Amino acid sequence: MKEDLIRRFTSYVKVNTQSDDDSPSCPSTPGQLTLARQLVAELKSIGMQEVTMDENGYVMATLPANTDRATPVVGFMAHVDTATDFTGDGVNPQFVENYDGGDIVLNKERNIVLSPKTFPELLNYKGHTLITTDGTTLLGADDKSGVTEIMTAMDYLIQHSEIKHGKVRVAFTPDEEIGRGPHKFDVKAFGASFAYTVDGGALGGLEYENFNAAEAKLIFKGSNVHPGSAKNKMLNSIKMAVDFQNQLPAEEAPELTDGYEGFYHPLTFSGDVEQTKVVYIIRDFDKNKFEAKKAFVQETVQKLEKKYGEGTIELQLKDQYYNMKNIVEQHKEVFDVAYQAMKNLDIEPQVLPIRGGTDGAQISYMGLPTPNLFTGGENFHGKYEYLSVNDMIKATKTIVEIARLFEEQA
Ligand SMILES: [Zn+2]
Repeated sequence: MKEDLIRRFTSYVKVNTQSDDDSPSCPSTPGQLTLARQLVAELKSIGMQEVTMDENGYVMATLPANTDRATPVVGFMAHVDTATDFTGDGVNPQFVENYDGGDIVLNKERNIVLSPKTFPELLNYKGHTLITTDGTTLLGADDKSGVTEIMTAMDYLIQHSEIKHGKVRVAFTPDEEIGRGPHKFDVKAFGASFAYTVDGGALGGLEYENFNAAEAKLIFKGSNVHPGSAKNKMLNSIKMAVDFQNQLPAEEAPELTDGYEGFYHPLTFSGDVEQTKVVYIIRDFDKNKFEAKKAFVQETVQKLEKKYGEGTIELQLKDQYYNMKNIVEQHKEVFDVAYQAMKNLDIEPQVLPIRGGTDGAQISYMGLPTPNLFTGGENFHGKYEYLSVNDMIKATKTIVEIARLFEEQA
């Protein structure tokens, strides 16, 4: 299994699949289609059935049941795109066998070192085979490790027909990193009762709680007058925007919160005296606190409009996604089976809230409960990204065990 995982992962990361928020197409970049076509060919070659790719680049395939028992259809999903934060062009994976717990020099020339002094979690991987970058790109473990593990698990189940399972569906999807992954995902065509995204981090990760999320776009409309004759005439929109920021609770910021704490976060700020535009994201796990945060933004806008004048602030507030906990809790078996699968493999499940969203969060609200499983990767979205092959094996076995358990419990 180890060689299969390494071979597949290495071939997937060679294709640059960074998504692009500025592109209106789906997938947003042609590299994603290149990889999707490669995955279609590979799914067929390992013996998967009903292998399809739709016009938006969503790949789906079926592993038919090998049991007569009535078993729910279970799905596994991973996204083919990689993050926009750091270049994904020319990924050149490096291998560290039997990691000794010391510094890993990623790039000697540029003195880029992956060190347990900065990343103490590295010490959990002593003795593992690690895959790292060469220091000049991201790795793309997010989420090509998930793609690799699902593909390898299906291959394994096909090779080991003595393991009984119901119908399994797999999907490889585009544009997760720009938040569009679920938008064109055809839940009906997928036809699963439950699904899992294989898009998490370190060993044991089992996630079904995520933020409720909204975006607030604010446009502050000032009035520019020559500064030499501006007295009692000028309204400086930059100062209005700063005033707004100062009304927000200073401690409710991403840099000052963790665990289940929510926040307001100014993401972009641009403007001049005449007009300033600020985009905030608003996050909270708790639905009531989430609604209260949105209400506070609206009230603050109203308050400042009284101060600066009617129509001087434009607010566009829109919800982005919701905490999937509310959905998954109504279908507890999707969580319980994954938990039991890990236990059966001597993996201690790490059930932690996701301080972000996943495709599964949106898909859960589209009617398909979809928690998230670990992949074995760390430090996503940058040059320090790395992946444990030992934990990739465990992630693959977890997928196999989940498929088996749904049959056993049917
Ligand atoms: Zn991901």
